[in-house]
Amino acid sequence: MAFNWAYNTRDFKFILQEWLPTERIFAYERFRDYYSKDDIDMIIDPVFKIAKEMIAPANDDGEAQPARFENGQVILPDSFARTFHYIQENGFGSSNIDEEAEGVLPQVVYAAIQEMLASANPAWSPYVALSTGSADLIQTFGDEHLKKVFLPKMFTGEWSGTMCLTEPTAGSDVGDILSKAFPTDNPRVFKIKGSKQFITGVEHTMCSNIVNLVLARVEGARPGTKGISLFVVPKYWINEDGSLEDNDIQALGIEHKMGMKGSATTAVTFGENNGCRGWLLGIDPGENDGKGEGMAQMFQMMNGARAQTGHVAQSIMANAYFNAAQYAKERVQGRPLTNPKGDRVTIINHEDVKKMLLHAKAHAEAMRGMIFQTYFYFDVRSHDPDEAERLKASDRIGVLTPLIKAYCSDEAWPIIGDCIQVYGGYGYCEDYPVAQSARDVKILSIWEGTNYIQSMDLIGRKWTQKKGASFAAWLQDIRDFISDNRDNSELEREFANLERALNSYMEIQMTIGGYFGNKQYGMMPLYARRILTATAQLYCGMVILSQALVAQSKLQEINADHFDYSFYIGKVAAARYYLMNIVPNVWAVAETVKTGDTSVLDIPAEAFEY
Ligand SMILES: Cc1cc2nc3c(=O)[nH]c(=O)nc-3n(C[C@H](O)[C@H](O)[C@H](O)COP(=O)(O)OP(=O)(O)OC[C@H]3O[C@@H](n4cnc5c(N)ncnc54)[C@H](O)[C@@H]3O)c2cc1C
Repeated sequence: MAFNWAYNTRDFKFILQEWLPTERIFAYERFRDYYSKDDIDMIIDPVFKIAKEMIAPANDDGEAQPARFENGQVILPDSFARTFHYIQENGFGSSNIDEEAEGVLPQVVYAAIQEMLASANPAWSPYVALSTGSADLIQTFGDEHLKKVFLPKMFTGEWSGTMCLTEPTAGSDVGDILSKAFPTDNPRVFKIKGSKQFITGVEHTMCSNIVNLVLARVEGARPGTKGISLFVVPKYWINEDGSLEDNDIQALGIEHKMGMKGSATTAVTFGENNGCRGWLLGIDPGENDGKGEGMAQMFQMMNGARAQTGHVAQSIMANAYFNAAQYAKERVQGRPLTNPKGDRVTIINHEDVKKMLLHAKAHAEAMRGMIFQTYFYFDVRSHDPDEAERLKASDRIGVLTPLIKAYCSDEAWPIIGDCIQVYGGYGYCEDYPVAQSARDVKILSIWEGTNYIQSMDLIGRKWTQKKGASFAAWLQDIRDFISDNRDNSELEREFANLERALNSYMEIQMTIGGYFGNKQYGMMPLYARRILTATAQLYCGMVILSQALVAQSKLQEINADHFDYSFYIGKVAAARYYLMNIVPNVWAVAETVKTGDTSVLDIPAEAFEY
C-alpha cells in the first residue's frame, strides 16, 4: 500500500505564532495558567511525531483490511483501536472539550492537532470526531445523570459516539424521518424503534460501548423538523448498578464505499425486538424536557462537524499537494520549452506542473487560514469576557461554517485531480498515494448536509440573519482590511482585485435580491452553490493577502540564505496567485448571475433522456 503522510508543520506555526493574535486567546482565564504562545512548538511537534509514527501507518491497514461485517459485528484493523485509545487516553482527542478538565487547549491550537491526525488517517478520524461531537451534545443538553454516566467514559475513549440522522427515505430532508420514540413509565426514558442508514461508527468492537445520538419522533409529535427529539441510545443499556445490558440495536451490514475504507458505515435497526431504550436529551422533565428540540440540539453537533468536515477535506488535499510537490522534484521528464536542447529536467520545472502545484498550495493555505480564523472565533465565542465580542465571534462563525464545509470539500476534489495529473500515469495507480486521496475526499461534499444545503444555508439564512446585519458586518471586515492596507505598493494589483471582487459581490447580492423581489424564487437554488464558492473566494482572498503582508515584512528582515526565506517567498507567491487567478471568479459569477440565464429551469426532465 502506498499511503505517504508528507505533511510539515511550518504553516501551523506561522498561523499561530505570526499571523493570528493568539496571545488574546492565551490570555483568557481558561488558558492563561497553562499555556502561552511560546508553547506552540512544544504542543505541535510531539503530535506531528505521533501522527507520523502511529496514525499514518494505520492508514495502510484501513486500506489493506477495510472494515468488514461478520456475524452482525463490524471488524476494524487492530491498529485503528490501538491508535484510537492512544489518542483518547492521552488527551489529544475528545477530552479537549471537557468543561471540567484543566489544561485543555484553545480550539485554534487544537485545530493543528485535528488537521495532522485527520490527514494522517482520514478514515480513522471520524471515530474520534463523532465521539467528541456526541459527548459535546450530552455535555450541553444532558441532565446530571446523563453527564455522570456517559461523559467520563467518552472522554477517555472507553466508549465512542455516533450521530444517527439518515434513514433510507430521509437523507437531505431529515424532517421526514420515520424513527419513533414511545413513552415509558420513566418520563426521561423512551422505547426507540426505527431504521437508520449510512451511520458511521454505529457498530464496531473497538470500544466496550457505543453511544448513539438518535433522532426520532415521539409518538404523536407534529410532523417535520419541529416534531423531532434527540435520544441517547447506547449499544448496551447502563443499569443503575453500572452493569451493561444488550439494547436491541442490530447492524445490518456495511456499505462498500469508494474511499474511507477503514471507516465503517452501517445500516442499523433500533428496537427490532421492542427492547431498545433511549434517554431523551434535555435538561429536566419540565419545560426544558427536550421534546421537539432534537434538530436544534443536533445542529450544535452538525455545525461543529461541518467545520470539521471542511477541515478534513482541506487536510486530505494538502497531503496530496505535499506528495505531488515531492514527486515533481524527483521525476525527470522532458526539456523546458525555453531550452529545448538543454538537459532533461525534473517536472517541477515545467510551467504547467508548477501551476498545478501553486494552485494546490494557494488553496491549501488560504483555506487553512480561513479555518484557523474560524477556530479562533470559537475560542472568542466561548471565553471572551466581553459579551459583544462573543456575539460578534458567533456571527462570524455562522457565516464561515458553510463556507468551510462546502468550499473546501468542493475544491479539494478537482485539486486532488490536479495532484494526480502531476504524477502522470503513476498518479492513477494505487501504488502511489494520491489516488487514495481522491477516493477518500469525495464523501466530504456529501455528508453533514450536501454542499447544496450549505449554499442555501448561506444565502437563505446567513445573508438575512439579524436582518442582514451579521453578514453586512462580515463584509465590512473585508472592506476595512482593504482600506487599512491598500497602499502597499508591491501588492497593488492584488488589493485592486480584492476590491473589485467585493464590489462584484454586492452586485451578486443585489441581483439575487431583485430575483427574489420578482418572485423568481428558483434563481436562488439555481445559483446558490456558485455564490457560495464566490463568497469563500472573496474571504480566502483577504485571508491569504493578509498572510502575505506578514510574510512580506519578514522578508525585509532576512536574506535569501535564511532557512525561512522560501517559506515566506512561497506565502507571497501563493497570495499573488490566489488574488490574480482565483478571486476573479467572483466577478465571473456576478456576470453569470446577472445574465439571469434560466436554461436549467427551462429544460424539461424528459430532455435528459438524450
Ligand atoms: C460514507 C458515509 C457516511 C455517512 N455517515 C453518516 C452518519 O454518521 N450519520 C448520518 O446520520 N448520516 C450519515 N451519512 C448520510 C449522509 O449524511 C447522507 O448521505 C447525506 O445527507 C445525503 O443524503 P442522501 O444520501 O439520502 O441523498 P439525497 O438527500 O437523496 O440527495 C441526493 C442529491 O439531491 C440533492 N437534493 C436533495 N434534496 C434537495 C432539495 N430539496 N433541493 C435541491 N437538491 C436536493 C442533494 O443535494 C444531492 O445532491 C453518511 C453517508 C455516507 C455515504
